[in-house]
Parts: sequence; C-alpha cells; structure tokens
Amino acid sequence: MGLLTGKVAVIFGLANKDSIAWGVTKAFHEAGATIALSYAGEALQKRVFPLAQEIGCDFVEDCDVQSDAQLDNIFAKLKERYGKIDVLVHSVAFARREDLGGRFVNVSRDGFHLALDISAYSLIAMAKRAEPLMTDGGSIMSMTYYAAEKVMPDYNAMAVAKAALETITKYLAVDLGPKQIRVNAISAGPIKTLAAAGIPGFRNLIKHFDAVVPLGARVSQEDVGQAALFLASDMAKMITGEILHVDSGYNVLGLTVPRDTE
Ligand code: NAP
Repeated sequence: MGLLTGKVAVIFGLANKDSIAWGVTKAFHEAGATIALSYAGEALQKRVFPLAQEIGCDFVEDCDVQSDAQLDNIFAKLKERYGKIDVLVHSVAFARREDLGGRFVNVSRDGFHLALDISAYSLIAMAKRAEPLMTDGGSIMSMTYYAAEKVMPDYNAMAVAKAALETITKYLAVDLGPKQIRVNAISAGPIKTLAAAGIPGFRNLIKHFDAVVPLGARVSQEDVGQAALFLASDMAKMITGEILHVDSGYNVLGLTVPRDTE
C-alpha cells in the first residue's frame, strides 16, 4: 500500500517530461494516487497525452488558469468524476520575456498583472474551487523560487509573483486550516525546464548553483516529486503555511563562494 493509495491528486502545469509537474506526477503515481492532469493550450496536448498514458491517467483537461470559466469547468468535471479530491498541485508560472531580465524599473504594468495573475492569483482561484471538494481535508501545494526572498538576476516580474505566491500560501493555510486543508510551497533549486528557459541568465545561474551548493548536486524534478509526496501524505499532517526549500541547501548560504573541492 502506497502513501497516497485511495487519494485523488490534481496536478496543474504539466507541459512535458522536463516539467517539475512530471516529477511530482511520477512520485504520486508510484505512491498509489489516482491522478488528474491539467495542461495549458492545444499545443501541449500531444506532449501531455502520451505522458498521461504512461501512468494510466484518463483525466486530462486543458485549462488556462486565467479563465474563471475554465477553472469552474475543470473543478465541476473533477467533482463529477471523483466526488472529492485530496491533493492539489499548482505548478504553473508565466511572465513575458520582456519582464524577465533587463532593469527592474522597466517591468511593465501589463506584464506585472499578467505574471501575478497566472503565477500567483491562480493559486487562490484553485484553492477556492478545491475547498468544497476536499471533504476529508487535503493538501495544496505550489512551486516557488528563492528570488521571492533575495534578489536574483533577471527574475524581475517573476520574483514579485513568487513573493505573492508565498504570502498567498500562508494566508490560505490560515483560512483553510480549520477544514484540515494544508497549504504549503516548495522552493525548488534551478532546474532546466521550458519555463526556466525564459530566464535570460539561467545557464549561468545553474552553473553558479552547481559550484556553491552545500550538497554539491543539482536538484532534479524527481527530488521535488519526493518532497511533494511528503507534503501530500499524512507524514506532513501537522505542516501548513510552510515554504519547504528543496535546493541542495542554497538558501542557507550567506556568501556563495565555490566549494573547496579538495
Ligand atoms: P514548465 O514545465 O514550463 O511548467 C510551467 C507550466 O505553467 C507549463 O505547463 C505552462 O503551460 C503552465 N502555464 C503557463 N501559463 C499558464 C496558464 N495561463 N494556464 C495554465 N497553465 C499555464 O516549467 P517548470 O519549471 O516545471 O515550472 C513549474 C513551476 O515550478 C513554476 O511555478 C515555476 O516557476 C516553478 N519553479 C521552477 C524552477 C525551475 O528552475 N525550473 C525553480 C523553482 C520553481 P504552457 O507551457 O502552455 O505555458
């Protein structure tokens, strides 16, 4: 019997096999969860359907998280199919390329709204719709990044979105706590994915990360998947409002100098 046997987990943000959401999906599947998947846009359909097949998942729905109507639709379908849900994973983010990189003062009003809407507000919109379906309590989680805490080059609009996402996590944790719905975020180290490719200096960032992190190794999608499994399971039943760093220890460094490898 797996840690999530008998649980229904809904995962938003699967784009391809490099997605963090795929690392989470695999971990949940191996732990016995029934999985429902959501992706954005027809273009992704042909990449997402074969992945869903790999884990025997037949609930795969297109949903743009900017659309209340599409969110209503997917949660109505979840209710119809499963009656209740236990776990919700938000692994979604977007900012326009011009709002990533360059001077921070040049972040546009439109671009700011867009990044915050897709990458942060959507967690509130999902939690509101998940709450009535989490009748036995539940676990909601999202994916954040250290740029919310400290200035990282080029993250600009996305850094502000992640700061909002982390604060939303804490407010939701308090709001939903009485219903035994836990809300946490995983702050993952840099991982090569489609979304990460939009950050101009990402290659240098990841090289620097590799050279300085205490654990001496890069974080993988699978590492995030295992942490997500912990948060989804009863092992984390008294943990809520937490930002869990899965970053090889990067966040504890005061001075990021390359490790002495001798
Ligand atoms: P990814 O595979 O590109 O996943 C991002 C997902 O967000 C994609 O499925 C994307 O779909 C979706 N998305 C964007 N706009 C959307 C919208 N309007 N409606 C619904 N979905 C939308 O990249 P990832 O790195 O795994 O990102 C997953 C999460 O992890 C993000 O929150 C990201 O910020 C976070 N994170 C990533 C890293 C990293 O280094 N990779 C580190 C820390 C945290 P489309 O492709 O169709 O736009």
